[in-house]
Amino acid sequence: MVILGTRGTVLTGSIVEGPACSHCQHTFFNTFGVIRYFHLSHIPVFPTSHEAGLKCGHCRRTLAEESLPKETKKALIREFFPFWRVLTKYSGSLALGAIALAVIARHFH
Ligand SMILES: [Zn+2]
Repeated sequence: MVILGTRGTVLTGSIVEGPACSHCQHTFFNTFGVIRYFHLSHIPVFPTSHEAGLKCGHCRRTLAEESLPKETKKALIREFFPFWRVLTKYSGSLALGAIALAVIARHFH
């Protein structure tokens, strides 16, 4: 039974045309994003990292975020990591904060 640790969520996106694949020269890629987070009993407490990239539609080789042009990287980050999606990875922290506030309020009431 794992009570705490880190987990990752893989998000698949759209098909885009990009730079030629370094392995097979194919130019169509699937976009993807991975968000990792610290969890407590499978409830996300806070995100630890996120990464987006392109996966070649032919040979499946990936182009990680750091090897992409700046504009492509920005577009992928906008696509996969909008504010609401990152916020959901803080849901455990928000719940713990609410419980702490309720306990403190009850103590001083
Ligand atoms: Zn390829």
